[in-house]
Amino acid sequence: MKKKITILGSTGSVGISTLEIIEAHPDKFELVGLTINSNFKRLREQVKKFRPKVVSIKNDFAYKEFKKINSDKNLIILGGNSCLVEILDYKVDFLMAAIVGSAGLLPVIEAAKKGISIGLANKESLVCSGAILKKIILKNKAKLLPIDSEHNAIFQVFENSNKDQIEKLILTASGGPFIGKKTEHLLKISPREAISHPNWSMGKKISVDSATMMNKGLEVIEAHYLFDINIENIEVLVHPQSVVHSCVQYTDGSVLAQMGTPDMKTPIAYALGYPKRISAPIKKLNLSEIGTLTFREPDHETFPLLKLAIEALKIKKNAPTILNAANEVAVEAFLNEKISFLSIAKVVDLTLNKAKISKIDNVEEVIEEDRNARLIADKFVSLELF
Ligand code: NAD
Ligand code: MG
Repeated sequence: MKKKITILGSTGSVGISTLEIIEAHPDKFELVGLTINSNFKRLREQVKKFRPKVVSIKNDFAYKEFKKINSDKNLIILGGNSCLVEILDYKVDFLMAAIVGSAGLLPVIEAAKKGISIGLANKESLVCSGAILKKIILKNKAKLLPIDSEHNAIFQVFENSNKDQIEKLILTASGGPFIGKKTEHLLKISPREAISHPNWSMGKKISVDSATMMNKGLEVIEAHYLFDINIENIEVLVHPQSVVHSCVQYTDGSVLAQMGTPDMKTPIAYALGYPKRISAPIKKLNLSEIGTLTFREPDHETFPLLKLAIEALKIKKNAPTILNAANEVAVEAFLNEKISFLSIAKVVDLTLNKAKISKIDNVEEVIEEDRNARLIADKFVSLELF
């Protein structure tokens, strides 16, 4: 039986890599649905090649344009505000959540309610909803399979039967394009500089998050919820070669790591094939060519967002939701050249201080907190205090 799959965010970096794995294994997978925001021309190419049953197009203009150019008469085309959730009415075994930001929350929750396996690239949905999403997953016997390379690495070497012998998780970070730089070097960073990552080719938002180290902050929160490990037992190490994708340290002194070339197709193939391994069309790791692997402590002074994320996780309640929403607003403002690179951390810090910390118990409250934090962060952006 083929695994039936829908991809949220098929025109993005993770979405495209997912399609490459599906293409490499026509005997194993059947593509049911694709969703996008606005790149309708790319969607048309994907539809022609992969013949899905249904597509969802979030952006109104793109929805109308796609309908004009689509030639597949059997294709079901969904649009409007709920189209990312409605696409899950078409039954699948696996949802690849490769959308950016908290926009992924509702479809991920819906998939969890349906008991589907979820390939979680969209870390923001777990960061903003934390224990609430975990509870829904558990209740409905759904599965969260980590796609983020660090979490996928940990998932591969995490011995559930020896969980009580786990001392710590070691999350590696490439350090991004500004590794080794100090604050005075970061005053005039352009969006183009911030999104040129040395090792990974990714979407704009996560590339900026990597440059500010917020990506690692979000990943610490993600790791805490995925593996149920205390924040004190999660360590971050900067590893510029991005070969060791993360490790688990056990009480007997063993440190188990997963290594590979920095290519998302490896974790994607692992999650799609799980529990079986399947091949992935990538350049394989050549350790002698690489020669040296290095590790060092993160520079918290220059990149304060990592610590801020850890603080938010310690506070819990709605703090990670606020942190994530403020960061999404700040990164977008930076990409639109409204604020400077260094102001991203300031907007997040100010928003966390301004927003009221309160308990959240359900998805509706997550959405409400996300919206409130965005309003506050928007104000800090428009005040241009920086
Ligand atoms: P991307 O910007 O390349 O692609 C995003 C996709 O989501 C696009 O298809 C876009 O159309 C869709 N989308 C964006 N906003 C939307 C909205 N509001 N409504 C509907 N669709 C929307 O992003 P990416 O780099 O592929 O990252 C996707 C997710 O995976 C992010 O959460 C990111 O943190 C995570 N991730 C990415 C990588 C990577 O290598 N790219 C690695 C680890 C984790
Ligand atoms: Mg990652």
